[in-house]
Amino acid sequence: MARTMARFTRATTPHTGWCTADHRCGVNLHQAEDIIADGPLGARAVVTRVRAAEVDYADIRIRVPLRHSESIARRQLDTALSAIRALLAAVAAVRPAPLPGAVGRPSIGRRTF
Ligand SMILES: [Zn+2]
Repeated sequence: MARTMARFTRATTPHTGWCTADHRCGVNLHQAEDIIADGPLGARAVVTRVRAAEVDYADIRIRVPLRHSESIARRQLDTALSAIRALLAAVAAVRPAPLPGAVGRPSIGRRTF
């Protein structure tokens, strides 16, 4: 806990090129416009790009209506958790595109003697 708290500072940070530069920003917090994705039966996801101190992240809020049946609701929650884990892994796996002309990794698989 103390380590986490130490990572946040109150030093003022400038607005970014993508933040709203209005009341949604704070001393060291900057937020972009919300991006909304609607789903079936009133489901909605809201994605907001945020910079807190020097760290950028996506703040994602998802509202998913659950069925009245407890067993179905539990299955829906299980499905949601599985999909969220897959989402987190997919986002974390995004890497920069290779530089033009840098096809392949010549050092990988090269025999060393
Ligand atoms: Zn800002």
